[in-house]
Amino acid sequence: MSEAISLEEARSLVLSKVKALPVETVSLLDVVGRVSAQPLTSDVDICSFAHAAMDGFALSGSAIAQASEASPVILEVLAEIAAGTCFEGSLEAGQCLRIMTGAPLPAALDAVVKYESVDYLGGTGRAGSKVAFKAPAKPRENIRDAGEEAKAGERIVEAGEVISSAGVGFLAACGILALDTYRRPSVAVISIGSELIEPSEVPSGGKIRNSNAYALAACVHSAGGLPTILPVVEDSFEALCAAVLEATQAHDIVVTSGGASNGDYDFIKPVIAALGELLITTVNIRPGKAQTFGLVGGVPVFGLPGNPAAAYVGFEMIARPALRKMQGYSHFERPCIRARLSRDMMKKDPRRIFLRSTLYKDENGEYVVAPAKNQSSGLFGVIQRSNCMAIMPEGTESRDAGSLIDCILLDVSEEMGL
Ligand code: AMP
Ligand code: MG
Repeated sequence: MSEAISLEEARSLVLSKVKALPVETVSLLDVVGRVSAQPLTSDVDICSFAHAAMDGFALSGSAIAQASEASPVILEVLAEIAAGTCFEGSLEAGQCLRIMTGAPLPAALDAVVKYESVDYLGGTGRAGSKVAFKAPAKPRENIRDAGEEAKAGERIVEAGEVISSAGVGFLAACGILALDTYRRPSVAVISIGSELIEPSEVPSGGKIRNSNAYALAACVHSAGGLPTILPVVEDSFEALCAAVLEATQAHDIVVTSGGASNGDYDFIKPVIAALGELLITTVNIRPGKAQTFGLVGGVPVFGLPGNPAAAYVGFEMIARPALRKMQGYSHFERPCIRARLSRDMMKKDPRRIFLRSTLYKDENGEYVVAPAKNQSSGLFGVIQRSNCMAIMPEGTESRDAGSLIDCILLDVSEEMGL
């Protein structure tokens, strides 16, 4: 149990222990970013009628087939059709209709010529006036056909698809007002450490503010979960047992930080082992080797290290995929971009190192990554000022400035698939 496993092993073990939560029905306004648990179909053709894509003149293309600059064809504007109304009459030879964007195209007509392409003959182009056409119309020009985007009964979203904000509009057009999606996991966030005080207090006498709980609650929130920050737990086996047990009884996931190493006052490993199954104790990454994971009463418990950057990396790399799987997502990798190192990077520690870094484009448009000078695992501010984690792979091979290195983008959706 004490041997360090790779990040991939840790992640696949964790993913093998969690499954999608039960489905709930959510109203359309609340589905953005969530996964549809069901295939969806439209109740009507989208759009349900052919209509003008531009403001212009609706006509039969044959009426102006011979039109040219030298000998324009002149048509009379019989009537006007605005969006939301239908023209019920019929056209005779030599006539056209003034039509607005979105207005239904009468079935007998097959082209819309935009205002800008015609000349008004002594009028404004309104009903009763005459208009000169100086070129033939292309077939179905400026027309959106019925059912162009979807046919009634056609599948428009697959089960497992993530609904984007534009997708919310698409569902509205298809008459879908609510949909089944996987429940968001409720996540207990527990900070462990007798040194911790509330952020509202001013630290003295060896105390520090409990910043992890806030970062982790924010991480849970951006992973789609519903975080609850529970009271700080002192470094005591009994106190931690009681807190973890209670949390697992009321939440879908428990995330703790602190007390995950092998110090005299580090109790999360023995607590998980005593209450349930301890499955991971050490992962071969830096920061944050002391990543702990287990199940208590079947509930996943992530025992993240106490150092802020180590807790953050552990959450991002190991806990976040689990939260996502519980919500039905199928992508677990943040987008990754290769960039040139801005400076030499020595490597003495054989673990995989996540360097808090800034990715930018140089004057040639090429990606460059600048690792932050201070890579201490105790710092949140460095991550605040970074936009990626550059990865130094396992081993002790140093990298020269200019060499290519993988960079995981922070706060960018896994759905991008880059
Ligand atoms: P630990 O993993 O408990 O040995 O803690 C490692 C370092 O992280 C120590 O300097 C702790 O004071 C610090 N730390 C632990 N928990 C928190 C927390 N909730 N917020 C900020 N720092 C913490
Ligand atoms: Mg501690």
